[in-house]
Amino acid sequence: MATERTLSILKPDATRRNLTGKINAKFEEAGLRIIAQKRLQLSVAQAEAFYGVHRERGFFRDLVTFMVSGPVVAQVLEGEGAVARNREIMGATNPANAAPGTIRQEFAESIEANSVHGSDSAENAATEIAFFFSGIEIVG
Ligand code: ATP
Ligand code: MG
Repeated sequence: MATERTLSILKPDATRRNLTGKINAKFEEAGLRIIAQKRLQLSVAQAEAFYGVHRERGFFRDLVTFMVSGPVVAQVLEGEGAVARNREIMGATNPANAAPGTIRQEFAESIEANSVHGSDSAENAATEIAFFFSGIEIVG
C-alpha cells in the first residue's frame, strides 16, 4: 500500500478535556506521523463549509454548533494507507459501536462529540488538507 496523507481534527470535546497528547499518542503508536498541526477556533462559516456535504442532514446545525464550541486541532497524518488506517484507529462514528482500543471507544462522549474527524477517502483528504493547510505548513 502506498504512503498517503489524511486530514485529522481533534474536536472541541477532546481539546476541552485536555486529550490532545493522549490522542496523538494513538496515531504515533499506530505508525502514523503528524506532519502538520495547528490549533484554531473555527467560525460558523468555516464549520459550515467544512461539513458542507452534511448540509441536508438533520444533525447539521447541531454539528456546526458543536464544532465551534471550542478550539480544534487540525492535523495532517502520513503513513501507509493513512486514510483507512486512521479510520481504524478512530473507530466507529457512534462510540457505542466503536471497537476496543479505538479513540472513540476510549474517549468519545457521544455520536456527535466523538473526539476526532478523519477523511473518508484519498480524494476528500486532499480537499480537506487544502482547506486547513498551505504547502509550506506541511513537513513530511
Ligand atoms: P467524521 O466525518 O467527523 O470523521 P464520520 O465520518 O465517522 O466522522 P460522518 O457520517 O461523516 O461520520 O458524520 C460527521 C460527524 O457528524 C460525526 O463525526 C459526528 O460528529 C456527527 N454525526 C454523525 N451522525 C450523527 C448523528 N446521527 N447525530 C449527531 N451527530 C452526528
Ligand atoms: Mg465523515
